[in-house]
Amino acid sequence: MFNLKVCVIGGAGYIGSHAVYELIRDGHEVVVIDNLSTGLREMVHKDAKFYLGDITKKGELSSIFKKECEKKPFDVVMHFAAKLIVPESLDQPLEYYHNNVEGVRIMLEVMTEFNIKNVVFSSTAAVYGEPVKNICEEEDPTIPVNPYGETKLASEKLIKWVCKKYNMNYCIFRYFNVAGADETLEIGLKKDNLTHLIPVAIQAALGLREKMIIFGDDYDTRDGSCIRDYIHVSDLAYAHVLGAKYIYENNKSLLVNLGSNKGFTVKEVVKEVEKYIKVPYEIGPRRPGDPAQIVASNKKAKEILGWEPKRGLSDMIKSDMEFRKKNS
Ligand code: UDP
Repeated sequence: MFNLKVCVIGGAGYIGSHAVYELIRDGHEVVVIDNLSTGLREMVHKDAKFYLGDITKKGELSSIFKKECEKKPFDVVMHFAAKLIVPESLDQPLEYYHNNVEGVRIMLEVMTEFNIKNVVFSSTAAVYGEPVKNICEEEDPTIPVNPYGETKLASEKLIKWVCKKYNMNYCIFRYFNVAGADETLEIGLKKDNLTHLIPVAIQAALGLREKMIIFGDDYDTRDGSCIRDYIHVSDLAYAHVLGAKYIYENNKSLLVNLGSNKGFTVKEVVKEVEKYIKVPYEIGPRRPGDPAQIVASNKKAKEILGWEPKRGLSDMIKSDMEFRKKNS
């Protein structure tokens, strides 16, 4: 057992806040930096130190690093501070490149100035673009089809080049679909205008929205609706603890998908929610840009990190439902 000092940039957001909880459970020291543009101060674990700061402003980031690293340098920096809404990225490409790519560039510049050697980066299945086969592997072609995916791929490449030049290590995780809430129900997905399937179905079930729409049931899948690979946010967050320890201990980089190897259709997800409460829904037209199936191979994550999801779809639904009941 060893303790790392970890800087979590974007630690007040949905996935970042869960990573902070898992790091603290594993005994690490955590410093959170967040500009609270979408994150919430109340989502930051009470044992983490919090700084309000924006990584696209170098002065702000440098002064936080100076203060913290004088005492004890960070062992690892984790980045969760990206904008991540696909339609918004099409509408605001300049803002997306600025926040997502320039933010990473400045973070890396500051890391090199303070001689910090390890970076863990949240990336996405969106870097692959249209799937080329049923189960997506890390070596598949990366041809993003929207600015969000492009900015994540550009950041991945920037991280790789900088790590090569400055003898640093990276751990890049490509996420698929994420849902659920921490078992304490202190944190979860709390946002206005939610668009993701699981929280939308639960909001409809709880009467927090009138109904939900299933976007298309004429796809070439087992029941006509789209197939996705869903991971519980706490499993995903725990992978970051393993990834951070792996690159720190082995002085090596890695890039892995975080998925479950299996997919559920939209209708199967709705049926699972209906085990608890009825979901008012209608079948609507396809949503533009939705591939029929996206499922991740998790072979590499298993082999290298010994990681695989411990929780299933029903755990995601139950925890999100409890969190939503508590917060509505
Ligand atoms: N979906 C749906 N109705 C909704 C939200 C999502 O039918 O209100 C479908 C969507 O078309 C996709 C799947 O659910 O096939 C997962 O969508 P989500 O937005 O949660 O994540 P994505 O896979 O787009 O990242």
